[in-house]
Amino acid sequence: MDQRLLMQIPKVDVLLAEEPLVRLEADFTHDQIKDAARSHLQSLREGVLAGELAEIDPPEKVAEAVARTLENRGAYSLRPVINATGVVLHTNLGRSPLGEAVAEHVAEVAAGYCNLEYNLERGERGSRYNHIERIICEITGAEAAMVVNNNAGAVFLMLNTLCKGQGVAVSRGEQVEIGGSFRVPEIMVQSGARLIEVGTTNKTHEADYARAISEQGASALLKVHPSNFAMIGFTESVSVAQLSDLARDSGALVLYDMGSAPLFPNEVAGLDNQETIRGVLRDGADVVCFSGDKLAGSAQGGILVGRRDLIERIRANQLTRMLRIDKLSLAALEMTMQLCRDPRLARREVPVVRMLSMTADELRGRAEALDEAIAAIGGVEHEVVAVKDEPGGGSLPDVLLDGYAVSVTVAGLAPAELERRLREAPTPIVARVSKEQVLLSARTIMDGDVERVCAALSEIAQVGGEEPPAGGAER
Ligand SMILES: *Cc1c(COP(=O)(O)O)cnc(C)c1O
Repeated sequence: MDQRLLMQIPKVDVLLAEEPLVRLEADFTHDQIKDAARSHLQSLREGVLAGELAEIDPPEKVAEAVARTLENRGAYSLRPVINATGVVLHTNLGRSPLGEAVAEHVAEVAAGYCNLEYNLERGERGSRYNHIERIICEITGAEAAMVVNNNAGAVFLMLNTLCKGQGVAVSRGEQVEIGGSFRVPEIMVQSGARLIEVGTTNKTHEADYARAISEQGASALLKVHPSNFAMIGFTESVSVAQLSDLARDSGALVLYDMGSAPLFPNEVAGLDNQETIRGVLRDGADVVCFSGDKLAGSAQGGILVGRRDLIERIRANQLTRMLRIDKLSLAALEMTMQLCRDPRLARREVPVVRMLSMTADELRGRAEALDEAIAAIGGVEHEVVAVKDEPGGGSLPDVLLDGYAVSVTVAGLAPAELERRLREAPTPIVARVSKEQVLLSARTIMDGDVERVCAALSEIAQVGGEEPPAGGAER
């Protein structure tokens, strides 16, 4: 350890008084600047301790480096990124983007007061759920509907209201864990329902459910979409139609956690043969729930649809208050649903619908346009390649989408290093590395992103394979 170098690292207060950081006070709060300075000093200390730094720049230079980092990174921890992965519903990247028109509507509702719980006709208290029940029912054919904070909450509320203290049959093949530790059996325990496991991992038959009703007193049959995995080979599961036939005589309820379900007709996005909410309700499901920000293409939310008497009981549950949806999500959901009534509008204004419905030809055209823009900046090798994109978000695990990407290379940079530098761009670009290629997928890069992708690549190509300047970017 070099004691002398450690002593040369400036104190935070000294750094804050340097001109480059004083200048930033116009755009950043004092705490934001101080945090950035602290974290930079910490990385210098670590660099010295690891023997990686041979000298420490004078305070003004260090302050400049802090200012550069802060200006590049912006003031916020949560900020926009460019999704170049080709995964449309990327759970780590905020799932469903809203699109400009919907985002504008949300911003308008957010910026002032709104009639969230106010009935404008009567001039008295109203319900937040009234704003979208009718349109959900129109789209799904349901008798009644309500919305909570997210689908995990919807599943919990459904079980807690309708099945507390009672047996619920779930196939062993559907006792899944969905990213972020949502485990079906654990949610059931928390809700107060008693789990009755039926069938085996790969096969569950009608007779298994029938026995759960007749011998173990199941009062509900819960079906769970396996979401993020697909079973192939020797498998069997029981459909909603079969479950509702079984349940009819005993009066057991048929509940279905669909996870990811589209609000637009399947043909709109080329999702052939996928189960629809309307279809499973017609087949006899009593209550169905699904996410607002997966294939529904909108904001976070848990949407419950089904029999009026059951939905009303769920609404009356005290716990609903804890899981209630906020006004911004509600505004986004209402508008997205209105757009989804018209396939043309849905394709134009709902990014998830647009991205899923792009044809391979269209995607090749988009990739070629990106490729040309990259050609114009120089210093980057580039090539249009065919790729497989994914719907993502635990939707349709067995579906791959034909797409196109631009494969990029910068001399002197290994693929992993290029991937990292793209991630450190002012608007971070999340790319995919496959078979030693850094791929920028044309499906998920939005129209307005192309310029920023090119600016970032241009910057990276200029610095090239050289070491970043001393005291520069933090690792
Ligand atoms: C995604 C998913 C959930 C959780 O939904 P959130 O909206 O993320 O809370 C629950 N069940 C299934 C089957 C899912 O796919």
